Amino acid sequence: MKILVLNAGSSSVKYSLFDMSNRSVLIAGIIERIGEEAASHSYTLPDTDRVREDIVSRNHQQALQVLFKTLAACRVLNDCRELACIGHRVVHGGEHFREPALIDTQVMQRIAEVIPLAPLHNPANLLGIEEAIRQMGDTPQVAVFDTAFHQTLPDYAYRYPLPKHFYAEHGVRRYGFHGTSHRYVAEQAAQCLGKSLSETNLITLHLGNGASVTAIQNGRSIDTSMGMTPLEGLMMGSRCGDIDPAIHFYLSRTLNLSNEAIESLLNKESGCKGICGENDMRAIHRMAEAGDEQAKLALAMYAYRIKKYIGAYFAVLGRVDALVFTGGIGENDAWLREQVCLDMTLFGIAIDQQKNQKPVRPCGNISQPNYGLAILVIATDEELEIAIQAMQCMEQPSL
Ligand code: ADP
Repeated sequence: MKILVLNAGSSSVKYSLFDMSNRSVLIAGIIERIGEEAASHSYTLPDTDRVREDIVSRNHQQALQVLFKTLAACRVLNDCRELACIGHRVVHGGEHFREPALIDTQVMQRIAEVIPLAPLHNPANLLGIEEAIRQMGDTPQVAVFDTAFHQTLPDYAYRYPLPKHFYAEHGVRRYGFHGTSHRYVAEQAAQCLGKSLSETNLITLHLGNGASVTAIQNGRSIDTSMGMTPLEGLMMGSRCGDIDPAIHFYLSRTLNLSNEAIESLLNKESGCKGICGENDMRAIHRMAEAGDEQAKLALAMYAYRIKKYIGAYFAVLGRVDALVFTGGIGENDAWLREQVCLDMTLFGIAIDQQKNQKPVRPCGNISQPNYGLAILVIATDEELEIAIQAMQCMEQPSL
């Protein structure tokens, strides 16, 4: 059984084709700069070098035509009947979707209804779905939502202290994101610990360009740092994370900045980039090593803000079986992991320096043996998780 996973953005489509009999990737690629003069397609087949081609892709229709032609030309998909389904990443499912959904017109309508909550993502996700249906109409399509894992948050965690009609009439609440990644690493962590997920308490740190932390109790998300949008929570590459909301009014009043200018400032010019001019963590380390004080400050702030959330989620969870690091930074940045875990023995957190330098892949425990709490470094795989969830959705008996 094969499953194609599609992640359609406004100007790109990422894809992976899985053979679910052994969960192996048959091909993975990305079509970029859709709608521009110089669109490109790059893909990798197992045990071969990456292939990169210039293509014509004026829109998502042409992008998917290129994709399906490539699958046939590479002989990884000879007949569309080999496909059990196509799994689509959808960023926002609002309150409608707690689980993946087999796509029909009603599901598409509901994804469209929450466009105001994810104006940059949901329209592109929908474009990908519509085009896949047009070109592969006989293949079932499943939507897997970034927000779904966090639908188990209790009301006192997801509500904001604002007048209630903003929630009731306008959906103003915490939704949380990166749910596919938090869920995937939670399952892997439980396996590593030899426990059932439904008995496991975790603090999962997804640290990539975007970053979020989730408190997981008995396998269920009970709080998470991203909010109504992915701007809240941890300091990120170019997003500010938690700041005093009154800064917005101050900037508007004193500098006469428009809402659009402030939105762009907080999303694209803040976080690490705002502090030291760079958003890529590897580059920030190089700057800090060369003595750049602002880069050192960005690193100190980044680690400090993660630490504060760990403390908060310890208080929320009471018992924690493991702290989990994932994402490009969480998986690769030994320095940051050490800083985050420094002086945390009170919580049972103590890192083993040597293990931290080279964690066992794909799931390594870098904790000192005598401490109760495991510190796990786990490689996330959102595409595989989407494929797994899409398959489970297909296998569910219809009501
Ligand atoms: P995205 O959120 O776009 O999926 P990733 O999870 O790939 O991003 O994370 C990207 C971040 O990971 C970048 O800031 C990058 O510098 C950082 N990163 C990747 N490898 C390393 C490394 N070896 N050490 C420190 N940071 C790293």
